[in-house]
Amino acid sequence: MSEKMQVTRELFDEVMVPNYAPSNIIPVRGEGSRVWDQNDNELIDFAGGIAVNCLGHCHPALVGAITEQANKIWHVSNIMTNEPALRLAKKLTDATFADRVYFANSGAESNEAALKLARRWALDNHGSHKEQIIAFKQGFHGRTFFTVTVGGQEAYSDGFGPKPGAIDHIEYNDLAALKALMSDKTCAVMMEPLQGEGGLNSPTNEFVKGVRELCNEHNALLIFDEIQTGFGRLGSLYEYIDLEVIPDILTSAKSLGGGFPIGAMLTTKDIASSLKAGTHGSTYGGNPLACAVGEAVMDIVNTPEVLNGVKEKEIQIRTGLEAINAKYNVFSDIRGKGLLLGPVLNEQYHNRAGEFMKASADHGLMVLVAGANVIRFAPSLVIPNEDIVEGLAKFEQAVASVVNG
Ligand SMILES: *Cc1c(COP(=O)(O)O)cnc(C)c1O
Repeated sequence: MSEKMQVTRELFDEVMVPNYAPSNIIPVRGEGSRVWDQNDNELIDFAGGIAVNCLGHCHPALVGAITEQANKIWHVSNIMTNEPALRLAKKLTDATFADRVYFANSGAESNEAALKLARRWALDNHGSHKEQIIAFKQGFHGRTFFTVTVGGQEAYSDGFGPKPGAIDHIEYNDLAALKALMSDKTCAVMMEPLQGEGGLNSPTNEFVKGVRELCNEHNALLIFDEIQTGFGRLGSLYEYIDLEVIPDILTSAKSLGGGFPIGAMLTTKDIASSLKAGTHGSTYGGNPLACAVGEAVMDIVNTPEVLNGVKEKEIQIRTGLEAINAKYNVFSDIRGKGLLLGPVLNEQYHNRAGEFMKASADHGLMVLVAGANVIRFAPSLVIPNEDIVEGLAKFEQAVASVVNG
């Protein structure tokens, strides 16, 4: 093998577009829930590549699946179908309400497909007046122009010229506002069944059930964005199963690929019929390598051992966080569910989530934030209990360092 060029974090600022501001640490390898950087410093991973590495790093089954497929065929495009895509689609439809699958390469692309499908379905079945899309403030649906406009943070969608139209936002959990806004012009309601990026906001049961009823009443489609909540993250394969509210369209990405880029849009046979041949597409979508990995992820995640394990690990982490809070009094609440957990900083530490994230990294722990006041943990669904213990100990050191200035 040829000798590779030596690179450092400084090079980022010289060769990359400055839309990201990455940490100074450059991870070079990982195993399970541990990661090592260029200087061989070890980190415990509670970030999971932003809720993506649901089986940790380099899980043997995923390495096996990708290696096996890499030695067979990498890409054919959608001029032809392929075996891994067919197998993964079959497994996804068998395990969910859906009968049809569209594969994409990311979450945003899956949502883009969902929104285009909803608009086309409404046009086909009801007419051009039915174009309103309702979504929620603090919601996040990706960064393409359509999806970022449907997302509920104008800071992300402003400044790029004219936006796609007929998109309205209301407060999450405000059923009365939704009722007031909906009419026969409503094409779809798009929501996360627990808002991830927006601060780990859980829906009330009444709200989710009410959204479904209002959609039925107005012949509007309910789109669940399960890109962050899905694939075992909250303790069920998809959160709609636990909520007992069935959407019309569901999008999945992040954990679906366990670290390999893939996204999927799931829907019913009837609704899918509006995406006729030629209406939408993607060169890479349904790529054999991606689908082979997705299939291997699903075979492991969609088992009682892993899904029940998520609930047990949630208790372990919550208990640990409560113990830390009893000592240092920094959190006002612990939001989230399953292995998407968010200690909320109390008044005294407001707007300092980034500082806790930085201190955690300095103490050998990778964590995330969800806004300025919420620290976010999204570890592997199979993180060993001893790694949770060690990670929490590092987190306590980080909290102590911030508290003690
Ligand atoms: C991450 C995320 C997306 C965007 O996914 P990408 O793969 O970054 O395009 C969309 N919706 C939700 C809920 C997400 O968490």
